[in-house]
Amino acid sequence: MNPRTPSRPLDVERLFPEVVPHRRRAVRLHPRAGSPGRRDSSVGGPLLWPADEPWPLCPEHSGSPMVAVVQVRRDDLPEQVVPYPADRDLLQVLWCPRDHDGRWVEPLVVWRAAPAGGVALATAPPPPAEAERVYLPRPCTVHPEAVTEYPSWDLPEELWQRLEPRFEEVERERWWDYQNHLSTAPGIKLGGYPAWCQDPRRPDCRSCRSPMTHLLSIESSEYPLNPAWGPAGEDPATVGPELRLGGLGGVYLFECHRCPGRPFDHRFDR
Ligand SMILES: [Zn+2]
Ligand SMILES: [Zn+2]
Repeated sequence: MNPRTPSRPLDVERLFPEVVPHRRRAVRLHPRAGSPGRRDSSVGGPLLWPADEPWPLCPEHSGSPMVAVVQVRRDDLPEQVVPYPADRDLLQVLWCPRDHDGRWVEPLVVWRAAPAGGVALATAPPPPAEAERVYLPRPCTVHPEAVTEYPSWDLPEELWQRLEPRFEEVERERWWDYQNHLSTAPGIKLGGYPAWCQDPRRPDCRSCRSPMTHLLSIESSEYPLNPAWGPAGEDPATVGPELRLGGLGGVYLFECHRCPGRPFDHRFDR
C-alpha cells in the first residue's frame, strides 16, 4: 500500500496563472495504521529519544508526560520542503494530550541528530490517565509524498478579490472548488501552506516580531470529504491516526528561521 494523491482534477496554473508566484511544495505524510519502529518516521510511533534526556513534561500540567505525535527523518522526505537545522536530521513533535482551557493540546518541537546505534534509548512513559483519547494518535507508518500547493486562506486579499469571480465560474462549470479541491492538501504535512479550515491567524515570532514560517499541519483527517486529495481505494474512517482535533480542524506549527534555536508557536482551528 502506498497512498498517493490523485492527479489534479484541473490545471490550476493555466486557469489561474496569478497564483503561480505563490506556488509551494509540501510533503504529505499519509499516516496509515501500522507498527513503526523507533528509527522509523512515524505518526504516534516510538521516538528515538536518548535515555539520558528527560522525557518532556507539559508546562501547564506539571509532571504530566507528553506523547509522541510525529517523527520525521530528513532522509525520508522526497524533497527538503522544510530546511532542517545544520547537523540535525530528525524532527520530533510531541504534545500534551490533555485539554488546555479550550486550546486543546500543548505541542513541543524538537530537532535532533539521530542518536547513533549503541546509544541507550528511552521508552516513552504511559500517557497520563487524564489524556483525551482523541488527542492520542494511533501508531502509524508514513508514506511521504511531495505535492504542489497554492494558497487559499493565505492568498493576498487583493488577489482573492480579483480571482473570486473566476473561482466561482470554474466551480459552476466544472464542479471543482479552488479552496477545497485545488489549493492546499488536507491531513498531516510538512511545508506548503497551513491547511486552515477557518480564517488564518498566522503567528509572529515573539522575539523578533517577524512572521513565522509554516512547519507542519496536523489535521484530524486526510479526508474532509475531499475527493480531490484523498487517495483512492481506502476507507477514510479506518486507515489513519484517528485524531479528532475539534470537529475537522487542525493544529498548525510555525517556527522562526531568523532567531537562534528556532522558536516555534502553534495555532489551531476547529
Ligand atoms: Zn498539558
Ligand atoms: Zn524570530
